[in-house]
Amino acid sequence: MLAGVLVPAAHAQGETATDDLTSAVVLKIDARTGSRTDLAGTEVNVMRTDGGDWAFGAGIAKAAPIEGAYPDGWLFVAHREGKDWTVAFEGEAAFPKLTSAAPEAVVPTGEKQVLATHGAAAPKVATAEAKPLAGGDFRTGMRLPWAVGQSWRLTGGPHESARQAVDLAGGDGRVLATRGGTLYVMCSSQRGWLRVAHDRGYSTDYYHLFNNRTDNGVTVAEGAFLGNIGTDVSCGGSANGAHVHFSLRQNGAFVGIASHNFGKWQIYNGSAAYQGSALHGSTQIGVGGSMYNYGPLGFTQGIIDTNGGGVVNRRSGPGTNFGVVGTVADGATVTIACSANGTSHTGRFDYTTSMWNKLSDGSWISDAFTWTGTGNPVNGWC
Ligand SMILES: [Zn+2]
Repeated sequence: MLAGVLVPAAHAQGETATDDLTSAVVLKIDARTGSRTDLAGTEVNVMRTDGGDWAFGAGIAKAAPIEGAYPDGWLFVAHREGKDWTVAFEGEAAFPKLTSAAPEAVVPTGEKQVLATHGAAAPKVATAEAKPLAGGDFRTGMRLPWAVGQSWRLTGGPHESARQAVDLAGGDGRVLATRGGTLYVMCSSQRGWLRVAHDRGYSTDYYHLFNNRTDNGVTVAEGAFLGNIGTDVSCGGSANGAHVHFSLRQNGAFVGIASHNFGKWQIYNGSAAYQGSALHGSTQIGVGGSMYNYGPLGFTQGIIDTNGGGVVNRRSGPGTNFGVVGTVADGATVTIACSANGTSHTGRFDYTTSMWNKLSDGSWISDAFTWTGTGNPVNGWC
């Protein structure tokens, strides 16, 4: 904790201002981490400055060097007016405003566009463990963080306070970006921890990396090399055996990784940290199990989940009163043209819906047997 730094009363809520940039950032880190007891100091990693009144970087809460402790960190943009620094962290309404106002040398245009989606937003609809997705939108458009076509192991199910992270290892050990975005090197050491800021307010974090990239602020494509699995603990914590600690953020904070899909697998929580499972169609693996990277699921696509395996009938219209025109196998990817209401069905996790999806070939399948990441139409109503 940093004692003795006062926030001037003249500033709006959610902004912090002091006459010293490092103190201003540390004050905000402390405000975010006040109740955590597994932390060990802070870092202010200034990535870019115009040498005067603007700065961009990461504020890091370092973890204690113990198992089960993990660092947290926030991208920030800071602007000095008069003698006071105003600092906005990602996830705050001021963040996209301040990044868009920052000079090109501090936040380039391309980054402004990505970071515009990383401001304040309503929290995601909560889902209890592995329950359906009604009202929520869990689409990511992401692959698993390695080469498409390789199989790695889920070495640890969802863990950390928000159950935001999984541990992954195997294959050629090359960790790749799950989706395009902007790359940030989080720790001041330039080692171990990378963040990629994506569209739709999502970021993905990759920790314990070995031989990681250090080209801060560059645009990376889906599948770009980030580093190798490793045991680096530059920002604290501990690691037994080379792996990547892969976590998901949205709107400036870690979010539960459960129910989100990577490489056509949904991750699910277990009854305790590091337990859990992953599901591709009706194929389920537990901790230690192998996940084949099928590549990203498109935003208008679904994965057939028959809730038991086998095939599901394709119909000529949105209901079982329409004729069977073929079948689709469990685990197959389908592309959805539009949706309509029809007969009601119940799929996995007691997800009951009357919505049917018209596929790109003109046939229809109940949404009860199609995982899309939402219970709403993914390509509009027909
Ligand atoms: Zn981990």
